[in-house]
Amino acid sequence: MAVELARENGAPASDAENRRDMDQSPLAIRGLTVTYGEKPAVFSVDMTVDPGKMTAIIGPNGAGKSTLLKAALGVVPPVSGRVQVLGKPLDSQRARIAYVPQRASVDWDFPTRVIDVVMMGLYRELGLLGRITGRHRATALDCLNRVGMGDFANRQIGQLSGGQQQRVFLARALAQGADLYLLDEPFAGVDAATEKAIIAVLKQLRAEGKTVVVVHHDLATVAEYFDNVFLINTRKVAEGPVADAFTAETLQTAYGGRLATAQVDQLGTAAQSVGGL
Ligand code: ADP
Ligand code: MG
Repeated sequence: MAVELARENGAPASDAENRRDMDQSPLAIRGLTVTYGEKPAVFSVDMTVDPGKMTAIIGPNGAGKSTLLKAALGVVPPVSGRVQVLGKPLDSQRARIAYVPQRASVDWDFPTRVIDVVMMGLYRELGLLGRITGRHRATALDCLNRVGMGDFANRQIGQLSGGQQQRVFLARALAQGADLYLLDEPFAGVDAATEKAIIAVLKQLRAEGKTVVVVHHDLATVAEYFDNVFLINTRKVAEGPVADAFTAETLQTAYGGRLATAQVDQLGTAAQSVGGL
């Protein structure tokens, strides 16, 4: 995908081109506007995620990153716009999307074992009244092992550290066997070991041809972890490969005065040198 800067006045894509891009994308969003009150949280956003890549959604606090993911999942209703997943309308495709929410949004006030949390990822296969078999448990355990949490299968989820919980949620997403993985700030407040474990699993998913979209807050690791970026500040700022779309200029547009110029220059240069390798 060519880099696209929202402020550039390039020739508009033809309808046929747009149609083809949408049909080939694991997640294609057009004209999406979401408001909670009067002020839009996301305004008129187009997004075309590349298949088999890792894409970071980046922007300041309150930029609409979580809202964009929630709208992509259909959990917040848009005022306007449409979402297409793997070439079809969202409604028929929900089973193909796995979601790891922002950690603070999950509150465990009743005791639940780790293995049971992971088995929730299998509910579509199990059905509402389906019986859990040894095979299901083995799948769940395998997913826990992939995130390095196999030893914690019988612990209560509420007793784990934040980073450990985050890995369990990733294991639940893996159990679902989805094609598109949406993660909201999976590295926020986790220890270095967890961050390494999560990024390794995400890279493995990419190697299997899956598509990974991550709301990411740490600008310093963008070029190392991701193929593409999507910069947003209510409106789309830029979208494309890291080397093209993650620059001092696009960061300045997205963050305005909230980043020191020196920091932006440094990050932009780092992004370009790493991305250009
Ligand atoms: P980000 O994830 O980029 O920090 P959000 O998508 O969470 O941003 O929020 C975008 C804007 O929408 C913010 O101004 C936030 O305060 C507002 N917002 C988010 N969720 C709600 C909600 N449930 N009700 C009202 N306003 C909300
Ligand atoms: Mg958020």
